[in-house]
Amino acid sequence: MTRLDELTGKQKYGFNKLQKRLRRGVGKAIEDFKMIEEGDRIMVCLSGGKDSYTMLDILRYLQRIAPIRFELIAVNLDQKQPGFPAHVLPEYLQSIGVPFKIVTEDTYSIVRDKIPEGKTTCSLCSRLRRGILYRTATELGATKIALGHHRDDMLETLFLNMFYGGKLKSMPPKLVSDDGKQMVIRPLAYCAEKDIDRYAQLLEFPIIPCNLCGSQENLQRKVIKQMLQGWDKQYPGRIENMARALQSVTPSHLADPNLFDFSGLKTQETPYEGGDIGFDAPELPAVPPSFQVEEAFAELKIVNLD
Ligand code: SF4
Repeated sequence: MTRLDELTGKQKYGFNKLQKRLRRGVGKAIEDFKMIEEGDRIMVCLSGGKDSYTMLDILRYLQRIAPIRFELIAVNLDQKQPGFPAHVLPEYLQSIGVPFKIVTEDTYSIVRDKIPEGKTTCSLCSRLRRGILYRTATELGATKIALGHHRDDMLETLFLNMFYGGKLKSMPPKLVSDDGKQMVIRPLAYCAEKDIDRYAQLLEFPIIPCNLCGSQENLQRKVIKQMLQGWDKQYPGRIENMARALQSVTPSHLADPNLFDFSGLKTQETPYEGGDIGFDAPELPAVPPSFQVEEAFAELKIVNLD
């Protein structure tokens, strides 16, 4: 008996809606960014976490119903972290009939060796992992590499880059690898983490814990995650708005001269599309009914309203 079998009629209805939402999100991201094409051989990176299991599950569904043909091959990198349950992924992948490759490389020892105790290990570890995965993709003749980052990862990265890096930069749904040879896609780009979480719980994917390396979770990312989750609870719709903002950028209303030719700006006799409305109040949608001015002031720590 699985958790799905135990659901009541109403809960099953909720699950179907959740599944449809995730499938629709992945389908739309694939279409919007032309992530998958006829004949693609997609290397699906599987870490054993909720995100990559969900990605594989939905890609398999789309593979069955899509009008185009594409192949999926799951790849897991066993980094030889202590306690890594090496049997879990092969057993799962065999049970669902997905071709797979487990790559075993002891990056754990390399990282432990090179990085002094107490220092952050993630940057070297992820550089090594990236190199191995790119090499594997070449060996497998993969045309695309699919990663399980989702909408909330993209927003977290945006704020991390702004708060700590002074950059307006997120995580793109599709990119060319730094060696120029691989096309990387993120099919979960439109999917919310809370949906993925719920889906993975209900389908009982055999999750492998992600703290086996013993490294502390990136503290800055954790802070940003808490901030976003707090906003999501307090101001429903804010996360969705921010995610939409990633797709609606106006370079002439930012301040990067490399992105917009400010020095070449000239006045003209005719109306100028996208011209400045600097003297007007910015156009914002009506304030949602749940929004309280007092809350906004409290958030901004404004105590005296006079
Ligand atoms: S958390 Fe551990 S496995 Fe993940 S990147 Fe950091 S060091 Fe590597």
